[in-house]
Amino acid sequence: MDWVSWTSGSGERSGGWPGQPAADKIVLLGKKIPLGQAAAWRDQFHSEWRFDRFSLEDWGRLLSAGASIARWEGAERLRGNSAGQRREQDKQGWGAGRDNREQDKKDWEMGFPVCLYDRRAGGHPRWRELCAPDMDGAQGVAEPGRMPAAREVARFAALTAGRSLLQPELRGLLEAQLPELAGSWRTLAQLAQLAGHAALMAGVAPAQTGRRRRFAGLLRGPALPRCRRCGSEVTRTAPCAGCGQSSCAYCEACLAMGRSRSCALLLRGSAVSGAAAGHAAPPAPADRQLDRWGLSPAQREAAAEALRFLAAPSAGRAATAAAESASSSARPPAAPSAVPVRPARFLLWAVTGAGKTEMIFPLLAHVLEAGGRALVATPRRDVVLELAPRLAKVFPEQQMSVLYGGSEDRWTPANLVLSTTHQLLRFHQAFDLVIIDELDAFPYHNDPMLAYAAEACCKDSGHFIFLSATPPKKLQRDAAAGRCGVAKVPARFHGHPLPVPKRTSFPGTDENISRKRLPSNLITELERSLQRDAQIFLFISRIQQIPPLLALLRSKLPGVRIEGTSSQDGERADKVLAFRSRAIRILITTTILERGVTVPRSDVYILDADSGLFDEASLVQMAGRAGRSMEDPTGRVFFFSRQANSAQRGAIRQIKQMNRIALSKGYLKVV
Ligand SMILES: [Zn+2]
Ligand SMILES: [Zn+2]
Repeated sequence: MDWVSWTSGSGERSGGWPGQPAADKIVLLGKKIPLGQAAAWRDQFHSEWRFDRFSLEDWGRLLSAGASIARWEGAERLRGNSAGQRREQDKQGWGAGRDNREQDKKDWEMGFPVCLYDRRAGGHPRWRELCAPDMDGAQGVAEPGRMPAAREVARFAALTAGRSLLQPELRGLLEAQLPELAGSWRTLAQLAQLAGHAALMAGVAPAQTGRRRRFAGLLRGPALPRCRRCGSEVTRTAPCAGCGQSSCAYCEACLAMGRSRSCALLLRGSAVSGAAAGHAAPPAPADRQLDRWGLSPAQREAAAEALRFLAAPSAGRAATAAAESASSSARPPAAPSAVPVRPARFLLWAVTGAGKTEMIFPLLAHVLEAGGRALVATPRRDVVLELAPRLAKVFPEQQMSVLYGGSEDRWTPANLVLSTTHQLLRFHQAFDLVIIDELDAFPYHNDPMLAYAAEACCKDSGHFIFLSATPPKKLQRDAAAGRCGVAKVPARFHGHPLPVPKRTSFPGTDENISRKRLPSNLITELERSLQRDAQIFLFISRIQQIPPLLALLRSKLPGVRIEGTSSQDGERADKVLAFRSRAIRILITTTILERGVTVPRSDVYILDADSGLFDEASLVQMAGRAGRSMEDPTGRVFFFSRQANSAQRGAIRQIKQMNRIALSKGYLKVV
């Protein structure tokens, strides 16, 4: 396609695209060159007056210099090899040292699989062809029989829409879904790009070298290349078999999902078409959409607010529509835009135990029933596994895929996707609705890579909903300033207020351990909890405190089964089960159990609540373990600490404030 267009010249007369300049010289890259590498060269390439006189060997050397004219000039000077020139280069600081230069020299002596076509040398309409020894040349490249049919390109484009895939992932997807086309992926990917259905690029892109960037570089040091898949800065290089370079940059941040590097091909499909609003009848009013879900009044009001947010066009939608109408039908459609347009955002701030899962059902239904695609992402695999059967039951007619490391649904096409946050790296502009659950939980918290991935997988015209009991301060500020929509669910589903933590003074766990003593106020409260038949979460700040504290407590409370667990405990799941079934009565734990675990009739003790390792969100989450069940809706929560600090005060303030809002809205049964 490209070959035909460039060799047939300009103007309607010869059948080329209008406005396409006639090419005089064409350099054809061989199949041995990785597509990602070729894409990187394409992005680096600028036309130069010197190219007119370039020989086949010159082209080979230019490409081995990364298609960078500056590096090529340096290499040419090095080829002169005189001592004077070398000193000159050392002064200019070109190259990264003698070893690299020797390697580069070897690289360009290996030669490159390229062909050079020259229209003028051949005499119109013939082209002179010069090829490196093991190249086949362009003969037959554009013959109809050798090109995949348009229908196959369309199938390829439909399959890769909404995806961001490295080459091995692309092949995996094709082998799973279109095995008959897997063999011609290379041609299909290029045709899809020419037709505007996909963008091909190198996995790692060089740093921007604009003027502004250079000035910034003076202050902050040189800019690093970036990974286009996950957005991280790339600091590592390694010798690479793919491109033969001695220092091929690769991304460490997303390495667990496959190696993104300078010569790796990254394919970004076009945005998934069929935005929800365009295709179906206007959705029913929020009230009627909510009737079937059996929500509590607090859940219902917040869900209605979120539905209104979904019904309003997203901020990005107007811009996208304008761009679509501007693109003319005479030209091939533009490749997916790189201009960032932020989808609209909404925070669903639901207290612990509010029943947030039920609230997302009407939101998903709203999008899915209008023909859209929806994603629920959560940082934790166990939440994915727990949620999957519930979603499957609520939406039996929807195609659903459940994604986590090693899941079998990896390449299953689906309208409803339930995923751990890392898996989002494989999507791009794929969803009309993205719901991120517990965005403040590890590993999403403060991870720019996952934030980047979450944003990239939502369509520009899509909607973003964050679900959290303890949203990060930044998001709270955005919501307060109106930069992001918000609805609070201040009451638990059972209509009882959140237990307010009681601060109690305490000499500190380490102090207790070294003196082999426990304060009587702690023992007294623990005995009260046991008497009222409560299960006891005992949170501590450091793993090393578990064994000595366990010994102390067992000696003080004989006959009570007490265990300890942490992230390093291989029997954690069994202990949590035994705790839930009341075989274990007191469970000493780190923040690993601060969320996700619900045990009826629980009291919560947080030792060293003034530790720097507990922030406000963490304290609210731990306190949220108490009073979760209808049978025991109150529960008791204690902050044992040497002193009050801002985290404890903030947590108590937040809990009291939610209770006040719940009371004023009439959500509480018991005052
Ligand atoms: Zn990366
Ligand atoms: Zn490489």
